[in-house]
Amino acid sequence: MTDPAEQTVEGTRVDGVHVLGAISPSRAGEFKSCPLMYRYRTIDKLPEAPSSAAVRGSLVHQVLEDLFDLPAAERTPERAEELVPRAWEKLQAARPEAAELLAQLDQDEEDWLAACRPLLATYFDLEDPRRLEPAERELYVEALLDSKLLLRGVVDRIDIAPDGAIRVVDYKTSSSPGEAYEATALFQMRFYALVLWRTRGVIPAMLRLVYLGNSEILSYVPDEQDLLATQRQVEALWDAIREARRTGEWLPRRSPMCGWCSYKQHCSEFGGEILPLPEQQPAESVDVQPGQGVDEDAAVTLEDRDVVRHHQDGAASSLG
Ligand code: SF4
Repeated sequence: MTDPAEQTVEGTRVDGVHVLGAISPSRAGEFKSCPLMYRYRTIDKLPEAPSSAAVRGSLVHQVLEDLFDLPAAERTPERAEELVPRAWEKLQAARPEAAELLAQLDQDEEDWLAACRPLLATYFDLEDPRRLEPAERELYVEALLDSKLLLRGVVDRIDIAPDGAIRVVDYKTSSSPGEAYEATALFQMRFYALVLWRTRGVIPAMLRLVYLGNSEILSYVPDEQDLLATQRQVEALWDAIREARRTGEWLPRRSPMCGWCSYKQHCSEFGGEILPLPEQQPAESVDVQPGQGVDEDAAVTLEDRDVVRHHQDGAASSLG
């Protein structure tokens, strides 16, 4: 499904400023995984059928967001299950493709919704939401770098401890990655940490990925050098994307991501013919006006560092 950062942004705090372009961590990851997939999605804007896993992920995110609207004592597994039908209604209203997906799957709605239950149950194994009072949920964040590149995204949850320490939390309905892919998974969190540092002047104390697919949490403590490296990498990636735009070379790169790619019929790696570039391409740089989004570009690789894995959050209410 479309990145929420692409959907929810109507205006931006940098309205009226000339920016080179904008990137979110998801688009960044796409370019790194496969420039051709990035091109089809971002430049050609080819339509994609939503996947069942992506829609279910959006639904679980909605339930977890709604859960924190309840008084703390009511945030129980039973109440979470009760929230599912309402969350499903909201999701279908916001994203009609979600309802279309169910029609395509020809699956009973109740059965399909029931598949959320194990994911929600896992959430309660990992965190106790009665002990949490998030400072922010589904927060749109953006920061303009000196290079005029706009970084933006939507953070699932921000917790702030009494001493001001910030924890950035993201829920994943998939399973946690193997160690070889940890850095890729954490790139999104480092990106958010960089944006928060640039906008709030504070480096988050903890980055946390909560994997509901296999009941695991990845935690990571960023530092200034780490975030400066993230910024350099994002900007280097931006240069690579501009070069691809200049040369028109968007090479396919086969990887496990191909299993989820909608563009195989237009990919030479799978016997398809690569489509000609569209005559009209989205502008590379843009003046951001109120109510106007901007195209985004980018991707990155990061070195691995001190990732902690655990299966139960025994200190859910602290940032330790
Ligand atoms: S199938 Fe694989 S190599 Fe081809 S465009 Fe998709 S992700 Fe890239």
